[in-house]
Amino acid sequence: MSNQIQPVRGMNDVLPAEIGAWQHVERVARAALAAYGYEEVRVPIVEHTELFKRSIGEFTDIVEKEMYTFQDIGGESLTLRPEATAGIVRCAISNGLLRGARHKLWCQGPMFRHERPQKGRYRQFYQIDVEALGFPGPDIDAELIALTARLWRELRLTRVRLMINSLGTAQARAGYREQLVQYFRSHESALDEDSRRRLGGNPLRILDSKNPQMRALIEGAPLLHDYLDPESREHFAALRAALDALGIAYEVNPRLVRGLDYYSRTVFEWVTDALGAQDAVCSGGRYDGLTAQLGGEPTPATGFAMGLERVVALVSQLPDGPPAAVPEVYIVASGERAQLRALGLAEQLRDALPGRTVLLNLGGGNFKTQFRRADRSGARVAVILGDAELDRGVAAVKPLRGDDGQTDCPLSELPARIASLL
Ligand code: ATP
Ligand code: MG
Repeated sequence: MSNQIQPVRGMNDVLPAEIGAWQHVERVARAALAAYGYEEVRVPIVEHTELFKRSIGEFTDIVEKEMYTFQDIGGESLTLRPEATAGIVRCAISNGLLRGARHKLWCQGPMFRHERPQKGRYRQFYQIDVEALGFPGPDIDAELIALTARLWRELRLTRVRLMINSLGTAQARAGYREQLVQYFRSHESALDEDSRRRLGGNPLRILDSKNPQMRALIEGAPLLHDYLDPESREHFAALRAALDALGIAYEVNPRLVRGLDYYSRTVFEWVTDALGAQDAVCSGGRYDGLTAQLGGEPTPATGFAMGLERVVALVSQLPDGPPAAVPEVYIVASGERAQLRALGLAEQLRDALPGRTVLLNLGGGNFKTQFRRADRSGARVAVILGDAELDRGVAAVKPLRGDDGQTDCPLSELPARIASLL
């Protein structure tokens, strides 16, 4: 077996046994996004490396050490997207979508980060990413959060909590940053290696440290809240009022900062206690400065990204998880003429029963083998066709669950009979 090719570390296959939960989450999300007027966009997985450096920020973990960056044959530096916001904003600029217009967009797909793989943390992972471009007010921030709250409700997830904070404007943050650097410098010996590195480039990221030994020091740090500009304060108060009016519970977490540089004002994160160390299931916020930073028309913007592996894991933990997909009909056919006719019969049944799964026994086998396959498929009804039945213009119909016995049914009435059994 030594010549087997292994999967790339941190990159997973999603097998048929798991796909039901994925499709359930995707279906619920799609419907919810449509209900709020979001439109799907599909953007490339590969972008110029420069896009991520300029948007996410040079001194972030992602850009410093997690990107899948390579030179293509033409010598260009390209990167597998580590997140989707930069690509969507680039798409809006490239296609002239901004120009004062407003767009509610979403996209879905794989993201790539060279992190240490563990439960809930992978190198290829999937996100649903939602972005509202051209909306300045706290109302859209609140509506976005309401959308996420609806998702959890419809997915029946209860072990999630909302945390919110305001990062203020870039100018307000600059003043705070100075205070923060001063504070951490006066405790430099207590900083871990990561934090020391961040102190120079991105001191706010120290607040996001996951090292428990840093906790006490971080608790004592000055609070961004005290440095907020009046407009950001007002924005945040209005967001909280809207969430209160909507009856959405939240916790103001003054130390919530995000791992990407481009946020301003509102940031939020949904966390869970049900997944161990990987507690963030959905995070987002406002990034009013990003479009201009990427050379586009200045446009207020806000959005979030949801980690699908983590949401799927939560859904899979529910006592009665998503319904498994089972076929409705399994056709058993024996005899040369009957097998040929069964191909057409399966087509007729698929025409007559849209949305249902009709399996036909393929590859022959005696009745016993075929019945075993029918049973294993989980199908609700078996249709049995032999040359003898064919001569009489009937097929036998046998419910595979319950005690009802097998009955003959004229082929012309078969679709109606099966429909009545499902
Ligand atoms: P974390 O704090 O867990 O590293 P993050 O702040 O890096 O998360 P974002 O960049 O905001 O996360 O991405 C949004 C969401 O994507 C996260 O809330 C999480 O659910 C998911 N996510 C992020 N990184 C990974 C990963 N490596 N594997 C699986 N899911 C991830
Ligand atoms: Mg991260």
